Amino acid sequence: MKVAFIGLGNMGLPMSKNLVKANYEVYGLNRSKGREQLFAEAGGKTGYSLPELARIADVMMTCLPFPADVEEVFLGSDGIVANGHAGQILIDFSTVSPDLNHKIEKEAAKKGIEFLDAPVSGGNFGAESGTLSIMVGGKKEVFHKVYPLFEVLGKQIYHTGPVGSGTIIKLINQYMVGVHTQAASEAFIIGEKMGIDGPLMFDILNASYAQSRIFERHYTNFIAQNQFQAGFALKLLFKDLTLVQKMAEDNDINLPIGKPITSLFQQAKESSHGDKDMSAMVLYVKELQK
Ligand code: NAD
Repeated sequence: MKVAFIGLGNMGLPMSKNLVKANYEVYGLNRSKGREQLFAEAGGKTGYSLPELARIADVMMTCLPFPADVEEVFLGSDGIVANGHAGQILIDFSTVSPDLNHKIEKEAAKKGIEFLDAPVSGGNFGAESGTLSIMVGGKKEVFHKVYPLFEVLGKQIYHTGPVGSGTIIKLINQYMVGVHTQAASEAFIIGEKMGIDGPLMFDILNASYAQSRIFERHYTNFIAQNQFQAGFALKLLFKDLTLVQKMAEDNDINLPIGKPITSLFQQAKESSHGDKDMSAMVLYVKELQK
């Protein structure tokens, strides 16, 4: 089985490397070529164009940053669907909108190509350790066909229903990640301004009802280390919150803190923290203090 993986970023590189380790024949493609070099060093195949890969691969996987990238890679004139073939299976791990999932599914179906939306959670650590949560929307029989590939990448693998359903659950997850990130950032600043020792506060809150995986992740790996190199970039969380807002508005769902949270992440992104990890929201909240 030939597998192509498009988008070798923080998530895609470790995911595709795990497939190589599991002895699959994996072809990698990335916009910046340094990432392809890292993939080649891990035993992956590189040097093919997107149309070439779409012609030869049995399974095409993507893990791309923004909806516009996903739309171009799948539906562009040099893209996957234009060059793909009947019986092929497309799996998109990116976080986009359910509407875009449906659009790709519809175009793919015209050529007898199957599509699954398969957003992931667990961060780059989960991608490296092969312990991601994967939420998969699409036909159940197609899901079962590629299940062995999912097993290499994740530990909690769910078939969630029709195409788009994996994305809906992922966007709900991202909404909570945004809210928890904001809560953790503001909590940390309250403690700091009131003269409470950071590690002491973390230990107590981490053993109390304020505990969350996000609070633990942000504090332990970023705030306590005073380093904010992106595992998951703040600008990508802003993108996800924008997608949640749009889904809510299109479906008459009133999210009382949806708009303010999205606007805060937009401001943080625009004030030079966009490429940093999402935990850098704490730096932005700090800047808002007198
Ligand atoms: P990233 O920016 O680190 O990686 C994306 C990669 O795609 C980059 O290497 C970029 O060069 C490449 N790329 C962009 N456009 C391309 C194109 N047209 N052709 C080929 N390559 C292209 O992003 P990431 O953190 O790996 O996230 C990827 C997706 O996964 C996003 O949708 C994100 O929301 C989602 N996600 C990320 C995390 C995380 O913790 N990082 C967790 C879950 C889901």
